[in-house]
Amino acid sequence: MKKNNSYIIILLSILSILSYACSLNTPNPSLTNTNNTPSSVPTSTSSASSFTFIPIPTVSNSPVNDIEIGENLIDNPGAEIQDTKKDAPANWIQNSFGNIESVFSWGTQDPFSGKKYLSISVNKHTDGDAKWYFAPKTLKVNSWYKYSEVYRSNVKTRFTYLIDNPNKPQTNFPEVWKVDPSDSWNEASFRFYIMSKETSHRSIMHIIDRQGWLDTDEHKLIEIKPHPLPFPVVSITFDDIKKTAVSIGLPELEKRGIKGTFFITKNLVLNPDNSNADMVAVSKLVKQKHEIGSHSATHSYLAEMTPDKINDEMSESIKFLKEDLTIYPKGIAYPFGDFSDIVGQKAKTYFYYARTTLDGFNDALFDQYKLKIKSVNNKTTSEQLIEWVDEAKQTSTWLILLFHDLGDPNPVNEYMVPTAYFTTLLDYIQKQNIAVMTVSEAIEKLRGISIN
Ligand SMILES: [Zn+2]
Repeated sequence: MKKNNSYIIILLSILSILSYACSLNTPNPSLTNTNNTPSSVPTSTSSASSFTFIPIPTVSNSPVNDIEIGENLIDNPGAEIQDTKKDAPANWIQNSFGNIESVFSWGTQDPFSGKKYLSISVNKHTDGDAKWYFAPKTLKVNSWYKYSEVYRSNVKTRFTYLIDNPNKPQTNFPEVWKVDPSDSWNEASFRFYIMSKETSHRSIMHIIDRQGWLDTDEHKLIEIKPHPLPFPVVSITFDDIKKTAVSIGLPELEKRGIKGTFFITKNLVLNPDNSNADMVAVSKLVKQKHEIGSHSATHSYLAEMTPDKINDEMSESIKFLKEDLTIYPKGIAYPFGDFSDIVGQKAKTYFYYARTTLDGFNDALFDQYKLKIKSVNNKTTSEQLIEWVDEAKQTSTWLILLFHDLGDPNPVNEYMVPTAYFTTLLDYIQKQNIAVMTVSEAIEKLRGISIN
């Protein structure tokens, strides 16, 4: 009897290890499809029914799990302990800004664990946001961390870093993760890397930026072992597409034998304004064999749409690229970086990958439907671009750069990047002898699969 029990325990352990390993490529627990293989195009969408879509093999060679180093770095992680001076949780700071009416509370109703949790209710919202955050901690540079918590909310919410440096006030709050609403307690978890020259005195902020409520509990920040890729990669991507991406970007890439990935919005190309590329221009990209991806049909917020509308955005974009440009896009870049679980599920039925605008480097555990980027805009310096390449090389990760417009420096156009920065970057990448690949090529090489 005793022997039987131990067999059962061993079997259960194996099963739990296996189920944990299977969940790794979909860090958001509410995503039920843990298979990275896209299914066939839905037959209900008549405009897409003529497409052939060859499923990619299931990913096989990613490492198994995160190895945590040391302890949870957040003091009072479950918000159980009271501050000595006030009726509020110790170590937790509340902040809101903008035209917003928010109520911060120390919740007790149905906590995930213990007796307490953190709660915010936004009763009126025009702009701005509200968040609780833990007192900043000094983390290590050149290091990887994992942040996790359990949350529930009736609206979608997002995460960013607080970078605490009194000499250099933070101006950029990149989105590092986002989650769907969840009635019951649900886990949110993401990993991030701190570069060698960054300020490492930080906190993580879970932000609510609309009318609704958000509860959080069991917060955890822990150092993890790196998961380097077999070799570092850089990908150059453009969204929308701007005229200059073709008139300046294309020849500069071609001169160096580099292929980029261009995510095209159907309506922007068919009805180009002064700044957008037209069909003649984007045809050059196809002719020169650069990768063409989808950037939807109308450039709208996909997560705000009904499932049918999301289908339309994706299938119409594919139909256009296939019929008018004779290419089948392998991936999509979400307009405004806007996605949700349902958008992600739809992307899996049409595409081999999805590029987000979540900030970060992609390591060996990358989720090919949540590819992270470094966004290049008119505040990015040439030095930063070089640093990002250095970091990708040093950590053996995949750096996906997102460009829009190229040309003369322009403080008004947020997405204008000086041409000189672009060419300096390309020259630097080549000198470093680092692999430059289109996004689909990188997935093929890094995952050892073929998606042609
Ligand atoms: Zn866009």
